[in-house]
Amino acid sequence: MSLENCERCGKIFNYDPMENLSSEKICPECALEEKKDLKKVTEYLRKYPLANIMEVHEATGVSQAMLFRFIKSGSLKMRKPLEEFKCRICGNQIQKGTICDECKNKIEKGFDAEKLKKMKKKENNI
Ligand SMILES: [Zn+2]
Ligand SMILES: [Zn+2]
Repeated sequence: MSLENCERCGKIFNYDPMENLSSEKICPECALEEKKDLKKVTEYLRKYPLANIMEVHEATGVSQAMLFRFIKSGSLKMRKPLEEFKCRICGNQIQKGTICDECKNKIEKGFDAEKLKKMKKKENNI
């Protein structure tokens, strides 16, 4: 046990490495807060597995810096969007299916297939 400054609030507290699960030196109050934050985030991600940091931050109120810390420490696992969740035509990220709404609309409106090919070529050149 040693006296340490809390990395989160700056308070001096008794640091016990045996009791502190994370590698960071934070006081018991902050550890409790982090636990609550982590629970909120985990629950949100269970409902929306493909949510990004920004969305999680807005939905849970947990700061982005904190989210990055959770990810870094391994207590939070963000699922990376799978390759299948990309539009097969333009490569935009989509929630489900194989093509994005934009491309679907274009196809439904009879979008010229040649134009699409050219568009794709242009994109690949960037
Ligand atoms: Zn603290
Ligand atoms: Zn698309």
